[in-house]
Amino acid sequence: MAAHNQGATIASVRGREALDSRGNPTVMAVVCLSNGACAQATVPSGASTGTHEAWELRDGDPGRYHGNGVLNAVANVDHMIAPSLVGRSPLDQDAIDLRLIELDGTPDKSNLGANAVLAVSMAVAKAAASLGSGGEGSSLWRYLSGGGPVTLPVPMFNILNGGRHASNSTDIQEFMVVPAGVETFAEALRCGSEIYHSLRGLLRDAGHNLNVGDEGGFAPTLSSNRDALELVLRAVEAAGYTPGRDVYLALDVAASEFFDDRQGKYTLEREGTSFTSGELVEVYSRWSREYPIISIEDGLHEDDWDGWAGLQRTLGESVQLMGDDLFVTNKARILRGIESKTANAVLLKPNQIGTLTETREALRVAREAGWGSVMSHRSGETEDTTIADLAVAWDVRQIKAGAPARSERVAKYNRLLRIEEELGSEAKYAGREAYQHLRL
Ligand code: PGA
Ligand code: ZN
Repeated sequence: MAAHNQGATIASVRGREALDSRGNPTVMAVVCLSNGACAQATVPSGASTGTHEAWELRDGDPGRYHGNGVLNAVANVDHMIAPSLVGRSPLDQDAIDLRLIELDGTPDKSNLGANAVLAVSMAVAKAAASLGSGGEGSSLWRYLSGGGPVTLPVPMFNILNGGRHASNSTDIQEFMVVPAGVETFAEALRCGSEIYHSLRGLLRDAGHNLNVGDEGGFAPTLSSNRDALELVLRAVEAAGYTPGRDVYLALDVAASEFFDDRQGKYTLEREGTSFTSGELVEVYSRWSREYPIISIEDGLHEDDWDGWAGLQRTLGESVQLMGDDLFVTNKARILRGIESKTANAVLLKPNQIGTLTETREALRVAREAGWGSVMSHRSGETEDTTIADLAVAWDVRQIKAGAPARSERVAKYNRLLRIEEELGSEAKYAGREAYQHLRL
């Protein structure tokens, strides 16, 4: 590493408005260093967002982008954040993130906007990584790993979309296939693609529409959630894989989206029924006996802590029970979950909390409790592939980046392919080891 690189400092930080995969504005940050190197990062945006997430700052000006502009967040990058980072070393990510947290001064980043803060946090990391390798961003994972163990994560491919990500489809938001039983990431990607295309064939033959939802999975109009499970299982078999050996199934129920506050019940429109949390746990139990389901995310509402504890008691030994809206990548909520035994895994979405350091901290407490973890995209994504590098660098072992289709989704999977190549004989695919917290 050249000596002049070691001493490089942050020369400028600028914000930009860019569009995400749904055509909504989002924040990009560009960080340039005193040696002339620049790096940029763009933040994603959710649709089925948790109530307890950090604040995504939008302008609210109905005359621009239907109120969704992010010019105020961009101005915060330029005028509030930039002056306090210029002149600092990009190599001390913790200190940079701490500065961002102090500068914002609120528990939910609502002053500067978590979108402004995270864009800068990520761009600083990428700029710092460029100092080590000479190639911009080429070894972000290597820089962030700090020499610790690295693993190619098991991809969870969301091949059938419902809920808030597709209209007229299933109540359940995501039906995923999980190739935990193959040997390499490249094989896992091939497996996901082959199953995706087998599902397309099955849907076409049955006369369903072939439209896709926000995360690239198909969004057929089916008469029940179970029909979707059945179809996905048949697609696995049609592609020549063995369910429960090569490939498992996973759900993101996103149950907060169909919880009826007044009745205190979960309403599944497709089934024409509503359930108490105890009854819904029974439904999951039944499905888990009939299908090789390895993971259920947000099976219950984001504040139904007692319901979650019941779910964990019933299924926690054999199924990954993961909190997304429940934990929102927030250390305090994860610690409460560990204490009250409400889950056994955490979903990590950097924009739910706002900085890389806090995201890693969320992972650390979950891991110390013996929990599983999954790095995750959002339904509104961009060409930014930072989460692929984070998953490898932090040995997260699972990643959720949507269907193996649509450029903003496959960008992450393609990045992982390249990292696997870069690692060569050192590459290690997490496979079943990603599920050490379960009894499979
Ligand atoms: P979101 O969905 O990005 O729309 O919140 C993704 C998820 O729920 O995991
Ligand atoms: Zn989710």
